[in-house]
Amino acid sequence: FVESFEGNVEFCHVHFGYVEGKPILKNVDFQVKSGEKIALVGPTGSGKTTIINLLMRFYDVSAGEIKLDGRDIRDYQISGLRKKVGVVLQDTFLFSGTIMENIRYGRLEATDEEVISAAKMASAHVFIKHLPEGYQTPITSGGFNLSQGQRQLLAIARAILADSDILILDEATSSIDTNTEIEIQKGINSLTEGRTSFVIAHRLKTIENADRILVINQGEILESGTHQEL
Ligand code: ATP
Repeated sequence: FVESFEGNVEFCHVHFGYVEGKPILKNVDFQVKSGEKIALVGPTGSGKTTIINLLMRFYDVSAGEIKLDGRDIRDYQISGLRKKVGVVLQDTFLFSGTIMENIRYGRLEATDEEVISAAKMASAHVFIKHLPEGYQTPITSGGFNLSQGQRQLLAIARAILADSDILILDEATSSIDTNTEIEIQKGINSLTEGRTSFVIAHRLKTIENADRILVINQGEILESGTHQEL
């Protein structure tokens, strides 16, 4: 049994450094309500990934507290926490197996119909259908027989199927053709709908669509607000 989360997240005066004497996050303090979509923006090295690392408990805070649904995240089992926090990274982990198997990863009991339905919601179905072997197309380890955009669409399908309570998404930075880009945007919209989401945003559209933007600079929150407000 893994408990479900509503997805209320609070960073309370969080300080963190990977090594002694080199603080990376300084007094990071914000609250996210269940279902909100947060865009994290800031220059390279500013601490965006570090915030995510703490939320996933790859590291623990040096001072302060991170709360999930009102409880310190250190009170939850890490395995349960990670099952309920879905991650879509720029470079998706794909293994050698079919597209069907790769989307199903993490929810092995899902039927073919459920996989296809998730792929449709992710806007991945169209490109998959156009492959000669469709859902049975073999993927080479690492997925290098697909474009980065297509790999991200599979990751979105996988995350939709996994139905996690909180979502972390690192948007692809590499150039992606316009059509795939539109599909990814649609996929991301259905994935994040009603789910607490943190998007490390590289695209203006994503930033405009966020409920709130956190601007990070040198480990501090510089500004927070909607696209209109900032
Ligand atoms: P980018 O946009 O380039 O991904 P970011 O905003 O996500 O950058 P972080 O990856 O959070 O930035 O890095 C913040 C700082 O922490 C950087 O100075 C980086 O060098 C340092 N850092 C990141 N990971 C580690 C680590 N595992 N050990 C030590 N220092 C690290």
